[in-house]
Amino acid sequence: MKLAPFDTGHRFFRGNLHGHSDLSDGKRSPAEVIAIYKAMGYDFTCLSDHYMQGLDISAPSVPDSRSLRDVRFTTLLSAELHCPGKKYDKRGVWHIVANGLPLDFAAPREDETGPELVSRALAAGAYVSIAHPEWYGLTMDEAMSVSHADAVEVYNHSCVVECDRGSGIAVADYLLNEGKRLKFNATDDSHLGIDDFGGGWVMVAAERNDPDLLLAALKAGHNYSSTGAELHDLSLEGDILTVRCSPAVSVAVAGPGEVSAVAMGPNLTYAEINIARIRARGGYFRVTVIGNGGARAWSNPYWFDELEQG
Ligand SMILES: [Zn+2]
Ligand SMILES: [Zn+2]
Repeated sequence: MKLAPFDTGHRFFRGNLHGHSDLSDGKRSPAEVIAIYKAMGYDFTCLSDHYMQGLDISAPSVPDSRSLRDVRFTTLLSAELHCPGKKYDKRGVWHIVANGLPLDFAAPREDETGPELVSRALAAGAYVSIAHPEWYGLTMDEAMSVSHADAVEVYNHSCVVECDRGSGIAVADYLLNEGKRLKFNATDDSHLGIDDFGGGWVMVAAERNDPDLLLAALKAGHNYSSTGAELHDLSLEGDILTVRCSPAVSVAVAGPGEVSAVAMGPNLTYAEINIARIRARGGYFRVTVIGNGGARAWSNPYWFDELEQG
């Protein structure tokens, strides 16, 4: 059985789900941001500028990037939403990235909570991500309180290059262990004042490079996350997981707690991995490809009960 999204037959579109322009604290104009991502060969990006009533760095509204689309390149209407109540953040605010917001989405208020803000963005139709959990010390209690979001940023490039706190895997695994069915993404969180772009992205399987189709695909988990490695196919027959990927030193399958299985390269582009021990534990598994040069690709988590329902 081919696993999603490789069972859709759709091609993949490369995009950035988190980045800033000079509408908030980014260093480049919206047009310059879009030109940089187009020049890198991306299919889509976003202007997820900071957004909150009274915040010193807030954009005046959800950025309208529609005029920067063309026949080959599109944008997702987005914002990084903030509201008070987050421990350890320098402004004491939550960071919630929402892709696919309506342009009239009201600025978050000072009496809104993080969980309420996630709910309001979801109700508005957005694909909502828990941003850079490691960077600002998201606690496990805080993570649980926003676990109704769609996804966790498992990689945030600007947080990696600025302070080596750009992983979200530990928080994501914690939430998965708690039964929370979140997806993954990798992003740049680019501000473009330093070399903080083109480092983390999503590959989204969709019928066309259309904002609504991309968002529906992301909501369905029809993406993988990458810092340079590629996932080409995943299929599961009984307990044998078959992986096709770009040349890898390691293809690792992780399940709940500490359970895992691995195939080792170098130059591995095909692997058959027995995941019986993970299935025996129940819950979920996820696949990480570590490329020969260290770049990674992460699948979304797969849940055994959903696979058995077909
Ligand atoms: Zn942030
Ligand atoms: Zn950001």
